[in-house]
Amino acid sequence: MSEDPRLFEVFLDVQRGLPRQGPGCDESTRRALALCRGLPECPAVLDIGCGPGMQTLVLAEALNGLVTAIDIFPEYLDQLNERANAAGLSSCIEIVAGDMTALPFPPQSFDLIWSEGAAYVMGFAEAFTAWKALLKPAGCIAVSELVWLDSDPPSEAANFFGDEYPAMTDVETNLKTICTCGYEVLGHFTLSDAAWWRHYYTPLEAKLPALVDKYAGDEEALAVIETTRREIEMRRRFGQSYGYAFFVARRAG
Ligand code: SAH
Repeated sequence: MSEDPRLFEVFLDVQRGLPRQGPGCDESTRRALALCRGLPECPAVLDIGCGPGMQTLVLAEALNGLVTAIDIFPEYLDQLNERANAAGLSSCIEIVAGDMTALPFPPQSFDLIWSEGAAYVMGFAEAFTAWKALLKPAGCIAVSELVWLDSDPPSEAANFFGDEYPAMTDVETNLKTICTCGYEVLGHFTLSDAAWWRHYYTPLEAKLPALVDKYAGDEEALAVIETTRREIEMRRRFGQSYGYAFFVARRAG
């Protein structure tokens, strides 16, 4: 993401209207939910960085409680609102515009904290540390995160993600981090390759030619689009070397 407001607008333009804002699928949301333990009959759930909210809908449908969905970009929240209405789930979803680094909830408000593809915004360890206070004792947390699967990835992939996400690490390191932050790990798994494509890279890639036309002559904007194209190319060429992993844990103390 660019710090420059104009280029950030280009980034939003690239991401606009997609079913998801990162890898994921309903199956993996359900699988992670099945790893949670001890949830009450009507759990209070917080979905952080919900984006357009595919996973929010799955949670709201599967659970009897209230899902509070928070994201910093109102445009994504509008998308979620429309979807929730269409699915008849708006009464079980509360939509909040807010910043994950300054969450506006009292301590121990939630039985379950959920975050798909968004903890990287503040950092994996920082997210587990900061969000713990919001969980009730023995409350559960499920976070998906970009990870290396290969201990010695091809240099092109290592260089690309070294620039785009320097904090990226492997599953074992993230599991240790979760324990260090005061949680007991309940399970983890890697998302399928289809979870990258179906609702994310396939529709994203389809948008790129029109965006290249739209921003013709604007080298800085075209560079943003090119980074997206390269990210997708990385997946095609080196997808064995990295993945998205779901981590499910519960508050230990
Ligand atoms: N969970 C969604 C979106 C993942 S993309 C999905 O899987 O489709 C990351 C999300 O984090 C985006 O929706 C982005 O708007 C949101 N985000 C980025 N910075 C944020 C912040 N500081 N606070 C809250 N949400 C933020």
